[in-house]
Amino acid sequence: MLHKPVMATMAGDAEKENAPAVAWLGGLRVAARAIVDYALPPRCPGCGVIVGEDRQFCLTCWSSLDFLGGPGCVHCSIPLPASLPGGTIACGACLAEPPPFEGAPAAVAYGPVARAVALRLKYGRRTGHARLMARLMARQLAALGDSDALLLASVPLHRWRLWSRGFNQAALVVDELARLTGAAHDHHLLMRVRPTASLRGKSRRERERIVAGAFALAPDARRRVAGRHLVLVDDVHASGATLRAAARVLRRSGAARVSALTWARVVPDAPDAGNIFDFASLDSDMQVERMTG
Ligand SMILES: [Zn+2]
Ligand SMILES: [Zn+2]
Repeated sequence: MLHKPVMATMAGDAEKENAPAVAWLGGLRVAARAIVDYALPPRCPGCGVIVGEDRQFCLTCWSSLDFLGGPGCVHCSIPLPASLPGGTIACGACLAEPPPFEGAPAAVAYGPVARAVALRLKYGRRTGHARLMARLMARQLAALGDSDALLLASVPLHRWRLWSRGFNQAALVVDELARLTGAAHDHHLLMRVRPTASLRGKSRRERERIVAGAFALAPDARRRVAGRHLVLVDDVHASGATLRAAARVLRRSGAARVSALTWARVVPDAPDAGNIFDFASLDSDMQVERMTG
């Protein structure tokens, strides 16, 4: 774990800058949310208490965030106690079955505050939270390589999910990361060709089976992928099954290297990790209303 970066404030967000990643109907809802937000006092993105500046964490939430970035597995970046001389170590799971990505860093360990931020973006339409997440993810992106050598891609939603939600939260984060770092991005490399059932309570083998074949390369994307270092961006890295499935498509399509960057990573030994399957259940859209406040 690293020392905490300077506390981020997000004053002056312009929600309309996210327009390319927002579908039409969802755009109306997002705009309505932005108007409501404008009229209300700023609130902590973690717990919702009133704070001094827009999108500034309260001290309690800020203190509880567990920033990642210490020694980790060379494949999946999960924190490991110490690096060996030479710096290449791998976790047991990756030694048994190396994932299709090289490096999967996250800004913070998954816990109550990280979860609340992700849910408020995803279900509460707090699209400005994408900028907050991106700012805290930018350091991890820089560790993957020079920004001009990277190509950012969001993990796509199935079109039904995109239509009902109105926006892809991962695409919003990609837009903000690109704006902050100057890295290239492309929202049209991958397609989610079939919806996937909840991964809740499934074994690793079952999760892999559910997401297998969920992604495909867009028809005209092969030449844009060939030889590039792709960085797949998503909000939460839980079991990693979805990221692995998307990364495999990119690898098969000629990407020189694929990494995965997320806002929050489930770290099994972290004190606040909770049950890894709690998060998977949230994809059912059932717990939306509680998070809209
Ligand atoms: Zn708070
Ligand atoms: Zn690993």
